[in-house]
Amino acid sequence: MKLCRFNDNRLGLVQGDQVLDVTSALEALPAYRYPLPRTDQLIEHLDMLKPRIVEAAKSAKSLPLSQVSFLPPVANPGKVVAAPVNYKAHLEESRADVEINHNRQVIEIQTIGLFLKSTSSIVGASEGVTITFDDRRNDHEIELVAIIGKPARNVSKEDALNYVAGYCIGLDMTIRGPEERSLRKSLDTFTVLGPWMVTADEFGEPSGQQMVLTVNNEPRQNANTKDLIMSVRDLISWGSTFYTLQPGDILMTGTPEGVNRVVRGDTIHATIDKIGAMSVKVK
Ligand code: MN
Repeated sequence: MKLCRFNDNRLGLVQGDQVLDVTSALEALPAYRYPLPRTDQLIEHLDMLKPRIVEAAKSAKSLPLSQVSFLPPVANPGKVVAAPVNYKAHLEESRADVEINHNRQVIEIQTIGLFLKSTSSIVGASEGVTITFDDRRNDHEIELVAIIGKPARNVSKEDALNYVAGYCIGLDMTIRGPEERSLRKSLDTFTVLGPWMVTADEFGEPSGQQMVLTVNNEPRQNANTKDLIMSVRDLISWGSTFYTLQPGDILMTGTPEGVNRVVRGDTIHATIDKIGAMSVKVK
C-alpha cells in the first residue's frame, strides 16, 4: 500500500498514476484534547486503518498524481533519527574533501553514533527546499527512510524490521561547515520526506534497493542500500538501546557517495526502488 498526504491534509492511496482520496478513513482515529500524544496517529493506528482505507478507496474520488501537492507522509513525527556517514565510499569522500569535513576528523558511525534533526525541518516533496545561506555550501543527501510503526526498545537485529511501518525517500539537506550536525541539518525545509510511504509489507527487504539522485538531470548519487555500513536492522536495534523509537519516528539511514551542492533554481530528482520518484525544487 502506498499512502500519501496531499493538498489540504488529505490522505491518499496511490494506485498507478492516480491518487484515491481516502481521507474519510481517518474518521476512525480517536479524538484528542490537549495534551496531544507524542506519536503520529496515522502511523500508530495504521493496522486498524488499512481495511478502512481499502473500503474508502472503492468510492473514492481519483486525482492524477501530476496534479496533487505532496505533504510529508508522516504529519507528526516525535523525532528524526539520522545516521552519519553510513556508506564506506561516502566516508572516504568526506575524509578527502575539506569542504565536507572542515578540517575535522570524520569518525565512523560505530564510534560517533546517531544524531537528531529537528522535526520543524520536515517538508513534503512539493513544498521544496529553501536556501537561507546562499554563501554556504548547501548539499543534497538522498537516503532511504524507515518510518517506525510501534514502540521499539532494546529490539534485536533479527526482530528490528517488525517495528517498521513503511519506507519513503528522504533528502537530508545539509550546510557544510563547522557547526554541529543537528544545527546544519535542521533548517526549515532541510528534511524532505516523500513522495509517499510504501508500507513495510509491500516494500519487503530494505537492503538491495538502488537509489539515484540527479540535479537538473545531471547524475550525482547512484548507489545501493546493500552497501550500508549499519543496515536498517542494525540502526533500529542500536538506536533502540538509547531511546524508545515511537510510532511515526523517522529513521534516516544515511547517504551514499556523490553529495554535492545545490543552489536556488535547481531541481532535485530522487528515486528509490519500490518507492518511486520525487522532484523537489530548490528555492
Ligand atoms: Mn545524512
